[in-house]
Amino acid sequence: MGKSSHNDGRLFVISGPSGAGKGTICKKLLKAVDISLSTSMTTRSPRPGEVDGKDYYFVTVEEFEEKIKNDGMLEYARVFDNIYGTPKDMIIKQLEKGRDIILEIDVQGGLQVKQKMPKQAVLVFVLPPDLATLRQRIVNRGTETEDVIDKRFNEALNEIKLIGEYDYYLVNDELDDAVYDLQAIIMAERRRVPDKIMPIVREYEKGI
Ligand code: ADP
Ligand code: 5GP
Repeated sequence: MGKSSHNDGRLFVISGPSGAGKGTICKKLLKAVDISLSTSMTTRSPRPGEVDGKDYYFVTVEEFEEKIKNDGMLEYARVFDNIYGTPKDMIIKQLEKGRDIILEIDVQGGLQVKQKMPKQAVLVFVLPPDLATLRQRIVNRGTETEDVIDKRFNEALNEIKLIGEYDYYLVNDELDDAVYDLQAIIMAERRRVPDKIMPIVREYEKGI
Protein backbone atom coordinates (compact mmCIF):
# COMPACT_ATOMS: atom_id res chain seq x y z
CA MET A 1 0.00 0.00 0.00
CA GLY A 2 3.08 2.23 -0.33
CA LYS A 3 4.82 4.08 2.46
CA SER A 4 2.66 5.47 5.19
CA SER A 5 3.52 8.13 7.71
CA HIS A 6 1.86 11.14 9.21
CA ASN A 7 3.42 13.25 6.45
CA ASP A 8 1.17 11.53 3.93
CA GLY A 9 -2.11 13.07 2.94
CA ARG A 10 -5.35 12.07 4.60
CA LEU A 11 -8.35 10.24 3.18
CA PHE A 12 -11.58 11.99 4.12
CA VAL A 13 -14.30 9.40 3.64
CA ILE A 14 -17.75 10.98 3.22
CA SER A 15 -20.65 8.56 3.60
CA GLY A 16 -24.36 8.72 4.32
CA PRO A 17 -27.67 7.70 2.81
CA SER A 18 -28.35 8.42 -0.85
CA GLY A 19 -29.93 11.89 -1.04
CA ALA A 20 -28.34 13.15 2.22
CA GLY A 21 -26.43 15.69 0.15
CA LYS A 22 -22.88 14.28 0.02
CA GLY A 23 -22.30 15.27 -3.59
CA THR A 24 -23.74 18.75 -3.16
CA ILE A 25 -21.66 19.42 -0.02
CA CYS A 26 -18.42 18.13 -1.56
CA LYS A 27 -18.89 20.15 -4.74
CA LYS A 28 -19.26 23.34 -2.74
CA LEU A 29 -16.41 22.43 -0.39
CA LEU A 30 -13.98 22.11 -3.29
CA LYS A 31 -14.40 25.83 -3.98
CA ALA A 32 -13.24 26.66 -0.44
CA VAL A 33 -10.64 24.00 0.42
CA ASP A 34 -7.56 22.79 -1.45
CA ILE A 35 -8.26 19.06 -1.63
CA SER A 36 -8.67 16.39 -4.33
CA LEU A 37 -11.86 14.46 -5.01
CA SER A 38 -11.47 10.81 -5.90
CA THR A 39 -13.26 9.62 -9.05
CA SER A 40 -14.96 6.28 -8.40
CA MET A 41 -15.56 3.46 -10.82
CA THR A 42 -19.10 2.11 -11.28
CA THR A 43 -21.08 -0.36 -13.33
CA ARG A 44 -24.21 1.83 -13.15
CA SER A 45 -25.31 3.73 -16.27
CA PRO A 46 -24.51 7.44 -16.50
CA ARG A 47 -27.28 9.90 -15.56
CA PRO A 48 -28.00 12.63 -18.10
CA GLY A 49 -25.16 15.14 -17.91
CA GLU A 50 -22.71 12.84 -16.12
CA VAL A 51 -19.28 12.74 -17.74
CA ASP A 52 -17.12 9.59 -17.96
CA GLY A 53 -13.81 10.14 -16.13
CA LYS A 54 -15.17 13.11 -14.19
CA ASP A 55 -18.30 12.02 -12.31
CA TYR A 56 -17.34 8.34 -12.47
CA TYR A 57 -15.42 5.92 -14.61
CA PHE A 58 -18.36 4.08 -16.16
CA VAL A 59 -17.37 0.49 -16.90
CA THR A 60 -18.91 -2.92 -17.60
CA VAL A 61 -19.10 -5.63 -14.94
CA GLU A 62 -16.32 -7.49 -16.79
CA GLU A 63 -14.04 -4.44 -16.78
CA PHE A 64 -14.71 -3.91 -13.08
CA GLU A 65 -13.94 -7.56 -12.27
CA GLU A 66 -10.72 -7.36 -14.27
CA LYS A 67 -9.65 -4.33 -12.24
CA ILE A 68 -10.37 -6.20 -8.98
CA LYS A 69 -8.41 -9.21 -10.22
CA ASN A 70 -5.42 -6.98 -10.96
CA ASP A 71 -5.53 -5.60 -7.40
CA GLY A 72 -6.43 -2.18 -8.77
CA MET A 73 -9.08 -1.21 -6.21
CA LEU A 74 -8.57 0.34 -2.78
CA GLU A 75 -12.13 -0.72 -1.89
CA TYR A 76 -15.29 -1.76 -3.64
CA ALA A 77 -18.83 -2.73 -2.74
CA ARG A 78 -22.16 -3.67 -4.21
CA VAL A 79 -24.54 -0.72 -3.74
CA PHE A 80 -28.12 -0.68 -5.08
CA ASP A 81 -27.54 -3.54 -7.59
CA ASN A 82 -24.35 -2.04 -9.03
CA ILE A 83 -20.68 -2.23 -8.09
CA TYR A 84 -18.86 0.93 -7.04
CA GLY A 85 -15.22 1.27 -6.06
CA THR A 86 -12.17 3.46 -5.62
CA PRO A 87 -9.28 2.88 -8.05
CA LYS A 88 -6.05 2.63 -6.08
CA ASP A 89 -3.48 4.32 -8.39
CA MET A 90 -4.55 7.93 -8.10
CA ILE A 91 -5.10 7.63 -4.35
CA ILE A 92 -1.59 6.32 -3.65
CA LYS A 93 0.05 8.94 -5.90
CA GLN A 94 -1.81 11.81 -4.29
CA LEU A 95 -1.23 10.59 -0.72
CA GLU A 96 2.50 10.23 -1.32
CA LYS A 97 2.57 13.82 -2.55
CA GLY A 98 0.99 14.75 0.77
CA ARG A 99 -2.35 15.70 -0.76
CA ASP A 100 -5.61 15.15 1.08
CA ILE A 101 -8.35 13.36 -0.81
CA ILE A 102 -12.12 13.12 -0.44
CA LEU A 103 -13.77 9.75 -1.08
CA GLU A 104 -17.53 9.97 -1.46
CA ILE A 105 -18.36 6.31 -0.87
CA ASP A 106 -20.82 4.05 0.95
CA VAL A 107 -20.39 2.68 4.48
CA GLN A 108 -19.16 -0.76 3.35
CA GLY A 109 -16.39 0.97 1.37
CA GLY A 110 -15.67 3.41 4.20
CA LEU A 111 -15.04 0.56 6.63
CA GLN A 112 -12.66 -1.12 4.16
CA VAL A 113 -10.66 2.12 3.88
CA LYS A 114 -10.57 2.45 7.67
CA GLN A 115 -9.26 -1.10 7.98
CA LYS A 116 -6.68 -0.83 5.20
CA MET A 117 -5.42 2.69 5.91
CA PRO A 118 -6.20 3.49 9.56
CA LYS A 119 -3.57 6.25 9.79
CA GLN A 120 -4.90 8.19 6.82
CA ALA A 121 -8.64 7.55 7.07
CA VAL A 122 -10.95 10.14 8.62
CA LEU A 123 -14.59 8.99 8.43
CA VAL A 124 -17.38 11.56 8.17
CA PHE A 125 -21.07 10.62 8.06
CA VAL A 126 -23.65 12.97 6.51
CA LEU A 127 -27.20 12.78 7.89
CA PRO A 128 -30.36 14.40 6.54
CA PRO A 129 -32.35 16.50 9.07
CA ASP A 130 -35.10 13.82 9.03
CA LEU A 131 -36.31 10.91 6.89
CA ALA A 132 -39.15 12.79 5.17
CA THR A 133 -36.60 15.36 3.96
CA LEU A 134 -34.31 12.56 2.80
CA ARG A 135 -37.04 11.01 0.68
CA GLN A 136 -38.05 14.40 -0.69
CA ARG A 137 -34.45 15.12 -1.70
CA ILE A 138 -34.12 11.84 -3.59
CA VAL A 139 -37.41 12.62 -5.36
CA ASN A 140 -36.44 16.26 -6.08
CA ARG A 141 -33.10 15.23 -7.57
CA GLY A 142 -35.20 13.69 -10.32
CA THR A 143 -32.61 11.13 -11.35
CA GLU A 144 -34.28 7.91 -10.20
CA THR A 145 -37.40 5.93 -11.03
CA GLU A 146 -40.03 5.26 -8.33
CA ASP A 147 -38.72 1.75 -7.45
CA VAL A 148 -35.10 2.93 -7.32
CA ILE A 149 -36.20 5.77 -5.03
CA ASP A 150 -37.79 3.20 -2.68
CA LYS A 151 -34.71 1.01 -2.77
CA ARG A 152 -32.40 3.92 -1.94
CA PHE A 153 -34.69 5.19 0.80
CA ASN A 154 -35.03 1.74 2.41
CA GLU A 155 -31.28 1.21 2.32
CA ALA A 156 -30.72 4.38 4.39
CA LEU A 157 -31.37 2.55 7.67
CA ASN A 158 -28.64 -0.01 6.94
CA GLU A 159 -26.16 2.82 6.35
CA ILE A 160 -27.22 4.72 9.47
CA LYS A 161 -26.84 1.59 11.64
CA LEU A 162 -23.09 1.80 11.12
CA ILE A 163 -22.70 5.46 12.06
CA GLY A 164 -20.92 4.41 15.29
CA GLU A 165 -17.91 3.34 13.21
CA TYR A 166 -17.47 6.90 11.96
CA ASP A 167 -15.23 9.62 13.48
CA TYR A 168 -17.55 12.56 12.80
CA TYR A 169 -21.10 13.18 11.70
CA LEU A 170 -22.83 16.26 10.37
CA VAL A 171 -26.45 17.10 9.67
CA ASN A 172 -27.13 18.59 6.26
CA ASP A 173 -30.01 20.94 7.00
CA GLU A 174 -28.77 24.33 5.78
CA LEU A 175 -26.29 23.57 3.01
CA ASP A 176 -23.83 26.35 3.92
CA ASP A 177 -23.68 25.17 7.55
CA ALA A 178 -22.96 21.60 6.45
CA VAL A 179 -20.17 22.77 4.12
CA TYR A 180 -18.73 24.85 6.95
CA ASP A 181 -18.89 21.88 9.36
CA LEU A 182 -17.01 19.67 6.90
CA GLN A 183 -14.44 22.40 6.34
CA ALA A 184 -13.95 22.67 10.12
CA ILE A 185 -13.40 18.89 10.39
CA ILE A 186 -10.77 19.01 7.63
CA MET A 187 -9.01 21.99 9.20
CA ALA A 188 -8.98 20.34 12.65
CA GLU A 189 -7.56 17.10 11.23
CA ARG A 190 -4.87 19.02 9.36
CA ARG A 191 -3.72 20.47 12.67
CA ARG A 192 -3.28 17.01 14.21
CA VAL A 193 0.40 16.49 13.47
CA PRO A 194 1.87 13.95 15.93
CA ASP A 195 5.15 13.84 13.95
CA LYS A 196 5.75 17.49 14.77
CA ILE A 197 4.65 17.23 18.39
CA MET A 198 6.57 14.13 19.48
CA PRO A 199 10.11 15.53 18.94
CA ILE A 200 9.24 18.46 21.21
CA VAL A 201 7.90 16.08 23.89
CA ARG A 202 11.04 13.92 23.62
CA GLU A 203 13.28 16.99 23.91
CA TYR A 204 11.53 17.96 27.14
CA GLU A 205 11.80 14.42 28.49
CA LYS A 206 15.55 14.40 27.85
CA GLY A 207 16.06 17.83 29.35
CA ILE A 208 14.24 17.18 32.62
P1 ADP B 1 -26.10 12.37 -2.27
O1 ADP B 1 -24.83 12.71 -3.00
O2 ADP B 1 -25.89 12.21 -0.79
O3 ADP B 1 -26.84 11.21 -2.84
P2 ADP B 1 -27.07 14.87 -3.45
O4 ADP B 1 -25.91 15.76 -3.20
O5 ADP B 1 -27.28 14.35 -4.84
O6 ADP B 1 -27.09 13.63 -2.40
O7 ADP B 1 -28.38 15.66 -2.98
C1 ADP B 1 -29.68 15.13 -3.17
C2 ADP B 1 -30.64 16.27 -3.54
O8 ADP B 1 -30.83 17.11 -2.39
C3 ADP B 1 -30.13 17.16 -4.66
O9 ADP B 1 -31.22 17.50 -5.49
C4 ADP B 1 -29.58 18.39 -3.93
O10 ADP B 1 -29.68 19.55 -4.71
C5 ADP B 1 -30.49 18.47 -2.71
N1 ADP B 1 -29.83 19.03 -1.50
C6 ADP B 1 -28.60 18.73 -1.02
N2 ADP B 1 -28.34 19.42 0.13
C7 ADP B 1 -29.43 20.16 0.38
C8 ADP B 1 -29.80 21.09 1.43
N3 ADP B 1 -28.97 21.37 2.45
N4 ADP B 1 -31.00 21.67 1.37
C9 ADP B 1 -31.86 21.38 0.35
N5 ADP B 1 -31.60 20.52 -0.67
C10 ADP B 1 -30.40 19.91 -0.66
P1 5GP C 1 -24.97 7.23 -7.02
O1 5GP C 1 -25.50 6.09 -7.83
O2 5GP C 1 -26.07 8.05 -6.37
O3 5GP C 1 -23.96 8.06 -7.75
O4 5GP C 1 -24.17 6.58 -5.80
C1 5GP C 1 -24.82 5.66 -4.97
C2 5GP C 1 -23.98 5.39 -3.74
O5 5GP C 1 -22.78 4.74 -4.11
C3 5GP C 1 -23.57 6.69 -3.05
O6 5GP C 1 -24.38 6.89 -1.92
C4 5GP C 1 -22.14 6.50 -2.68
O7 5GP C 1 -21.99 6.49 -1.27
C5 5GP C 1 -21.77 5.13 -3.21
N1 5GP C 1 -20.50 5.17 -3.91
C6 5GP C 1 -20.10 6.02 -4.89
N2 5GP C 1 -18.83 5.75 -5.26
C7 5GP C 1 -18.41 4.72 -4.47
C8 5GP C 1 -17.18 4.00 -4.37
O8 5GP C 1 -16.19 4.26 -5.04
N3 5GP C 1 -17.14 2.99 -3.45
C9 5GP C 1 -18.20 2.66 -2.67
N4 5GP C 1 -18.04 1.68 -1.79
N5 5GP C 1 -19.36 3.33 -2.74
C10 5GP C 1 -19.48 4.33 -3.63
